[in-house]
Amino acid sequence: MDIVKLNHRGPVVVLLQRALTRAGIFYDANDGIFGPKTFKAVQTFQRDFGLTSDGIVGPRTWKALKPLLDRTRRYRIKSGDTPASVAAKYGLTDKELLAANPDSAFISGETIIVPDTGSVISSDLAYSHSVMLADISALRIRYPFLGHGTIGKSARKRDIPVLRFGRGPVRIFYNAAHHANEYITTPVLLRFVEELSSSAVNARRFFKMDARRLRGAISLFLVPMVNPDGADLVTGALQANTEAYRYAESIRGDAPFPLGWKANIRGVDLNNNYPALFEEGYEAKTELGINFPGPRDYTGPKALSEPESSAMARLTREISPDMTIALHTQGREIYYRFNGTEPPNALRIGEAMVASTALYTLADPPGPSYGGYKDWFIQDFRKPGFTIELGSGQNPLPVSEFDSVCRESAPMLAAGISQML
Ligand SMILES: [Zn+2]
Repeated sequence: MDIVKLNHRGPVVVLLQRALTRAGIFYDANDGIFGPKTFKAVQTFQRDFGLTSDGIVGPRTWKALKPLLDRTRRYRIKSGDTPASVAAKYGLTDKELLAANPDSAFISGETIIVPDTGSVISSDLAYSHSVMLADISALRIRYPFLGHGTIGKSARKRDIPVLRFGRGPVRIFYNAAHHANEYITTPVLLRFVEELSSSAVNARRFFKMDARRLRGAISLFLVPMVNPDGADLVTGALQANTEAYRYAESIRGDAPFPLGWKANIRGVDLNNNYPALFEEGYEAKTELGINFPGPRDYTGPKALSEPESSAMARLTREISPDMTIALHTQGREIYYRFNGTEPPNALRIGEAMVASTALYTLADPPGPSYGGYKDWFIQDFRKPGFTIELGSGQNPLPVSEFDSVCRESAPMLAAGISQML
C-alpha cells in the first residue's frame, strides 16, 4: 500500500477515510483529501493501536487498518450457534461463512471472521494499484481457495499480482489494464472472478456452467493490472510532487494529462512492446515520428524492454495457456487475428463471445497491429488469443460506467471459458 500523509490526495486517501469512518473516529466527507481532520483521526487510530502517532500512514498503520479495509468483523462462537444461525444474523449463507473460515471447527469459544455482504470490488473509485491490493485482500478472505502470487514488479517497484481460480487442466489466462487510462478493466476482471467464486461457493450455476465443478476443470489465471504505475498516474494516486510524475508530465506531448496517458511510467506503450513483428512496428512508428517515450504508442527501444511486459511474457511461457483474453477499452470490438497465424478455433470462440452479448463485433484493429500481447501470444503459441475493447465512450471510461461494462463483459468472459471445456 502507498504511504499517505498530510496534503496527499487521491483514491488511496478515500480508502483510508472509509476505514477511519468505519472505525468510528472520522466523521467528515470521504473526499480523498488528506486534511487536518484526517490527520487527527489517523493519530487517534495510531494511539489506540500503540503505534507512533505521527499521522503518517505507512506499512504498520496500514496493517492495523487491514480488518477495516477488508470489511470484516470478528465473531466469538457461543454455545447453540450453528453456521446457518450466525450466517443468517449477518445476511450471509452458511456456505459463505464457512468459505471464509476454512480451518474452523465451529466450536463454542472460537473466533471466526464474518465478512460484510455484497461485492468487495470498489466500483465507485478511480482504481489505483493500492485500491486493487485492498480489494484483492478482501476477495481472498471471502474466497481463500483463490491462488495468489506476484509475477514481478513495475518500473516503480509495485507488485504485479496474479490470481488463480481452479486447479483443472484447461489453462486460461485473462489480463487487464495494459493501458493506463483503461484501468476500469481491472475492477471489471476482479468482479468477474468474484462472481465466479461466489457461484462456486454457493454451488450456483454461472452462465449455465457448474461453477463448483469448474474449479476442477479449469485453471483460470488473472493479472488484473499489468500497468500499475500508469494506472496510479491516471487515477491521481501518484502524487504530483514526485519525480515519476514530473517526468511523465515532461513527455506528455499534446495528450490531455494525465487522463490521456496509456503507456507505462517510462513512456513505453506496453501493448506495442511484445516480440511480434516488433521491428516492423518500431519502423512504422518511427516514420510517424513516435520513436521516443511519450503518453502512448511508443514501442520501446526493444521488445520486452519493460519490466511489466517481460513479467507478462515470463508468466505466459510458464503457464502456457490454452487461450488468453486481454481486456482494453473502448469500442465494443473483439480482435482475434494476427498476421494469419491465428488457429482455426479462434473464429469459433470469438463468434461465441459475440453471440453472448449481441453488442460486440469481431474485427481487426484500426491500422496495422504490431507488438501487442495478443499478437505475440497468437504468433508464438498458435492458440486463440483475444483483445476485447470493452464499453463505449472516451478513455478513461468514468466509474459510472462500471456496472454496465461488467454486465456486457461477464457473458463474453464466461463464453471464453465454456468454449474451452
Ligand atoms: Zn488499450
